[in-house]
Amino acid sequence: MKKTKYIFVTGGVSSSLGKGIISASLAKLLQGRGFSVTIQKLDPYINVDPGTLNPYEHGECYVTEDGAETDLDLGHYERYSNTPTSQANNVTTGRIYQSVIQKERRGEYLGTTVQVVPHITDEIKRCIQILGETDKFDFVITEIGGTVGDIESFPFVEAIRQMRWELGKDVAVIHLTLVPYLAAAGELKTKPTQHSVKTLLEQGVQPDIIVCRTEHSLNESLRAKIAQFCNVELSSVIESIDAKSIYEVPLQMLDEKLDIEVLRKTNTAIPEKIDIENWRRFLNRLNNPLHEVTIAIVGKYVELKDAYKSINESLIHGGVANETKVNLKRIHSEHIESQSFDEAFSDIDAILVAPGFGPRGIEGKINAIKYARENKIPFFGICLGMQCAVVEFGRNVLGLKGAHSSEMNPNTKYPVIDLMSNQKGIEHLGGTMRLGAYNCRLDKNSKAFELYGEIMISERHRHRYEFNNKYRKQYNENGMKTVGINPENDLVEVIELENHPWFIGVQFHPEYKSTVAKPHPLFTGFIAAALTHKTIK
Ligand code: GLN
Repeated sequence: MKKTKYIFVTGGVSSSLGKGIISASLAKLLQGRGFSVTIQKLDPYINVDPGTLNPYEHGECYVTEDGAETDLDLGHYERYSNTPTSQANNVTTGRIYQSVIQKERRGEYLGTTVQVVPHITDEIKRCIQILGETDKFDFVITEIGGTVGDIESFPFVEAIRQMRWELGKDVAVIHLTLVPYLAAAGELKTKPTQHSVKTLLEQGVQPDIIVCRTEHSLNESLRAKIAQFCNVELSSVIESIDAKSIYEVPLQMLDEKLDIEVLRKTNTAIPEKIDIENWRRFLNRLNNPLHEVTIAIVGKYVELKDAYKSINESLIHGGVANETKVNLKRIHSEHIESQSFDEAFSDIDAILVAPGFGPRGIEGKINAIKYARENKIPFFGICLGMQCAVVEFGRNVLGLKGAHSSEMNPNTKYPVIDLMSNQKGIEHLGGTMRLGAYNCRLDKNSKAFELYGEIMISERHRHRYEFNNKYRKQYNENGMKTVGINPENDLVEVIELENHPWFIGVQFHPEYKSTVAKPHPLFTGFIAAALTHKTIK
């Protein structure tokens, strides 16, 4: 049986320091040294999962194979480690309380008073150790959302304290903190780091390793100061300087020996060799592109950096596969209506229409697709993007006036996209969509098949509405082909246009499965099509 080691990653001073990227980078390095690793995120908010949070609050909602709606950091974990995560990899305070309260209702606490310590902290520890008990992992890396000192994160830090006490050297704590640069003084300041470590100490946790986010290199005396004030070894003060891409971070952490420090702190024998050649190759191609394309991404959340995180990263992966730099032109679907399409799309090589919910900006999406169809510009529609392509084709090619998705217009005469039958009557919004991985059979005569190179594929979903099979024949006979079908319940998963260089709509979310090691074939194909379009236009 494996003896799993538990690594915790906490954050200090400020949020958004990149705990997810540091965790994923550490996982990559440990994998490179031959260890099996999984990463978990514990989120201190009360929502049971982020599925009902809007992108203004929370950025993208990432979906796992088993249909969990999770934090977007899990996307980084999968993209870096190329290993699928699951519901067990993202746990919120809401989920912890939900299960404790359910146990209490079942009478499992035998009449005792249910308290934060030990009952909530026991449940937190159970959710962490459940991953270790699968016997699959040498390391479980657990990232704690938020910043130490937040009221919400107290029980999580207390659970770390207990685990450290119970498991000793099988636990290590990494504290990621900010070392701000004061331009007026021309100096980096360590005081906020000292204070955040003090906050951790007040809760009984001494970090083993301190990773310092900084805009400028830390000199030796600064490192020594942090080591001394925070009771860590000098070699355990790790610099994480701003990088030009998140994909540089594993190599930065390798240079700083973060992996070695973790192995040392957990009394693990240090394998001499590390194999991260594939990662270096990826980075090399990313940094030395031979070509360049500009992709228009049309959506209603384009102003938010994290709303389409996985799509943005998948485009980068697809670009690297084609040795191509991908520039994004973000086009707001609500504002495009007032602009001339010729002008908005004058400098782009392909159009991607993003997923989404609700009617805001919908006509902008539909008209952008009309433009791509008529002008033979490569088009990629994802989830709502695919549904809009079906609506556009219905209205403008099949002559179904006012055709729509019944999500946007419940009274449309032509509901070419309609609520799935098993969604009817559902009242609760949380966790009730069609979620997670489903099979899809591809038509041998399709671009999708050409790209995937296999007939049976599996992709992840997150939706309630679907292509209305009543119209399937009419679409197929008139040039919009339904080329990917779910074999179990006959749902349309992929559509393509005949007589168009590259026009693919998918009901699923391919962006959740693209990784550095395995760029997704649809994104690779899309960028290749954009390149071709650029050369002939
Ligand atoms: N709103 C659409 C549906 O529920 C599309 C969802 C999505 O784009 N993820 O079917």
